Amino acid sequence: MSVKDRITQWVRPEVQALSAYHVADAAGLIKLDAMENPFDFPAALKAELGADLRDAAINRYPDPDAGAIRAALRELYSLPDAVDMLFGNGSDEIIQILAMAVAGPGRTILSVEPSFVMYKMIATFIGAEYVGVPLNDEFQIDAQATLDAIKRHQPALVFIAQPNNPTGNLFDDETLRQIVALSPGLVVIDEAYTAFTDADYMSWASEYDNVVVMRTFSKVGLAGLRFGMLFGAQEWIEQLNKVRLPYNINCLTQNAVLTAIRHFPAFVKQTEALREQRSWLSAKLEEVAGVSVYPSEANFILVRVDLPAKSVFSEMKKRGVLIKLLDGGHPKLAGCLRLTVGSHEENEAMLKALIEALESVRG
Ligand SMILES: *Cc1c(COP(=O)(O)O)cnc(C)c1O
Repeated sequence: MSVKDRITQWVRPEVQALSAYHVADAAGLIKLDAMENPFDFPAALKAELGADLRDAAINRYPDPDAGAIRAALRELYSLPDAVDMLFGNGSDEIIQILAMAVAGPGRTILSVEPSFVMYKMIATFIGAEYVGVPLNDEFQIDAQATLDAIKRHQPALVFIAQPNNPTGNLFDDETLRQIVALSPGLVVIDEAYTAFTDADYMSWASEYDNVVVMRTFSKVGLAGLRFGMLFGAQEWIEQLNKVRLPYNINCLTQNAVLTAIRHFPAFVKQTEALREQRSWLSAKLEEVAGVSVYPSEANFILVRVDLPAKSVFSEMKKRGVLIKLLDGGHPKLAGCLRLTVGSHEENEAMLKALIEALESVRG
């Protein structure tokens, strides 16, 4: 039997049908495709980080509960006692843990579209039904359609990214409350971009018994660490903990996270600089003919161009700037590009590349 035949026979059909999450090669390019913080770990803290990593007990298994991080986060986010925590190897792993805990025949996971692609991808490979309800043309939640879909499909999980990726906007508060009220299962508010908005839904984790709030250190400047957090009622966390692998947060990550939390104001300073850059970039983009700019509460800006977006993307890449091509990913994203907000120099280079690319494609 050939390898191909064995695969056809044994790999689950839904997995065979998937394409792996694509990460573009950014070698030699200005990398503005993945919402990374452009600033390095603050130079003044590198020696301290080095010492904290040196002191890690690497011959031992890590603390399975990451107790020290738990205490530090309780203080950092002023968490009420009733709110418990679960950590993941990035919030991607937490999405997988949530899906594993509920999936099975006849179980549905619901989100809106376009949104974070991992909701659908993980639901699919875990073996749940996935329902994506289209956003309206302003990328707001279509309340009627979404509430109808919740009634019809009775989803075990609802994922809402607030603000949303890849559109950058916040959803209407009242609509979210209606979704929570009608949902029979758990609603996950994904605050991956919390550092770039004043909106804060942490209080919902104690206000509603079917809401959990997810955050990550990735967009704050620690993407390389892979550290995601889930906040919710102790009863939910207790169940989810059963499907979490015991040592999923290694000791080097635990120590580095503690260093970062100890110096959190340094990261806040970086994200504040990025918020200023977002305003600057957004205003500059507004002046470019043929570009529509969407409002953003995140560290990226969604734009729509009136030319073939794929060509604009390629022409920018030729000029040394890597952004994210969204056109082709979802019908609502025709003509769309996602620009990560970088340092001022990077943003200037990106703007120049965009303007030149548009000229070149227009001919
Ligand atoms: C980037 C992103 C994540 C994943 O973050 P990691 O913690 O790096 O896995 C989750 N949700 C949304 C909406 C994101 O944009």
